[in-house]
Amino acid sequence: MSARVQGSSSTLAVRNPRTGEVDCTIDRPSAPALGELARSLREHQRDWSALPVERRAEILKEWAGRLVGEPGEVLAALSTDTGRYALAAGEIRPLAGIVAAYATMAGKLLTDPGERASVTKGVGIRTQRVAYPLVGIISPWNFPFLLSMLDAIPALVAGCAVIVKPSEVTPRFIRPLMASLSAVPELAKVFALIPGDGVTGQALIGEVDFICFTGSVATGRKVAEACARAFIPACLELGGKDPAIVLPSADVGTAADVVLRGSVQATGQACQSIERVYVQRSIYEPFVAALVERAKAVELNYPDIHAGHIGPLIFERQATIIAEQLAEARAQGATVHCGGEIERHGGGAWIRPTVLTGVTHSMKVMREETFGPVIPVMPYDRIEEAIALANESDYGLSAAVFGEDEEACAVALRLNAGAVSINDGGLTTEVFDTEKDAFKFSGLGPSRMGPSGLLRFLRTKAILVQYGDAKTIADLDERLARRT
Ligand code: NAD
Repeated sequence: MSARVQGSSSTLAVRNPRTGEVDCTIDRPSAPALGELARSLREHQRDWSALPVERRAEILKEWAGRLVGEPGEVLAALSTDTGRYALAAGEIRPLAGIVAAYATMAGKLLTDPGERASVTKGVGIRTQRVAYPLVGIISPWNFPFLLSMLDAIPALVAGCAVIVKPSEVTPRFIRPLMASLSAVPELAKVFALIPGDGVTGQALIGEVDFICFTGSVATGRKVAEACARAFIPACLELGGKDPAIVLPSADVGTAADVVLRGSVQATGQACQSIERVYVQRSIYEPFVAALVERAKAVELNYPDIHAGHIGPLIFERQATIIAEQLAEARAQGATVHCGGEIERHGGGAWIRPTVLTGVTHSMKVMREETFGPVIPVMPYDRIEEAIALANESDYGLSAAVFGEDEEACAVALRLNAGAVSINDGGLTTEVFDTEKDAFKFSGLGPSRMGPSGLLRFLRTKAILVQYGDAKTIADLDERLARRT
């Protein structure tokens, strides 16, 4: 049987980000339907986790290969969900690579090392890794597919069953994705996606053994509280206000290119967007000029979704947040060099790259997450000043430093952020094989990337054998060696 929710209890309206019209509805699963889905997934997880990890990886590769090869309906739905085409394709394309990376990692990390001698005399140790049976994933609207898969794939490789609840703002891709899963029955029995909003998210927490949440700090706090009550672990990937520091040794043109890309890609709707820039005064003016020139060349993907560079604001409320931050910055004396207005086209809301100067840390645009293509730039004189400003934030997701490598790395060591890109921005979105934690309000729990991205889904059981008469580690080592 494929794991599908059968009944539903309430209907939610979904707005189209390009037209502003409600052209889709979703049904929240009812409590009994969700309970039945969880029961079925748990039942099939026993067989799934008993498979050799290589077989689980093979099954996932089969599904991912097919989907990446023929993304058809999933891509069309994701494109409607997000109002962008190239980036929607770019969310799906890495899937096969993510599966392959975790399959390779699992081959190294999950190989049973066999029995070994403890430093405690006469005791042998064996280790068993036991997967959490059912993992729940609650994901946001800005990269609906990728931010679901980044947690789902390692959980499935580890041997867990998975339920994903994407955002109610971008749910259209769920149905075609479930259809793609049904072509691989072994996977469809342990992997499901459900529509729904925060109510469904809370209900999901009550059904699973582990939560991966990506979203805002405010919701993350509610999720963490609910997980604490349910006594299950929660990995929280939350917001950011990433700083970039441009040292005098930086190449101004390259830094401007990367800052622009790092700030406006996905219309700034990315947790690791560069949202504030500190530039050494000696290169401040040429940097601002280069940035503004480049920012003015960015085109909206309207009216043709295949043309231009940036899409609409996916979530209507985001337009209000951005407009309020810009109004406050203007009122407090900031200068807007380009962009700066929410533009209404065909019912959707767009904003062009917006470069601001004359900003201070008393402005929301320097303190709160903007989640739009807004680039406030401040000059600094001494590097201590830039580091202090970069660290003066509730967030600590990631950061960027531009300049001569060694000098830039020395600055990176002093930043309170979970990942720092040198002469680049948001490299963590491309590099999956290193661990990185989120600092401060940007998250909690083990790293989503690197070995812990996989190992967090497995509990480690120690089996300790008392051999009594083995007097030393060497005695025990010798005895264990003789047995194998
Ligand atoms: P959000 O917090 O509003 O919603 C995220 C998800 O939580 C949605 O699926 C929503 O339905 C669900 N939800 C809402 N209330 C809930 C509740 N009470 N219990 C359980 N689930 C609930 O976030 P969003 O607006 O969809 O996404 C934008 C935010 O996500 C930004 O702050 C952004 O920085 C953050 N984000 C972080 C990362 C990261 O990796 N750190 C990546 C992308 C986005």
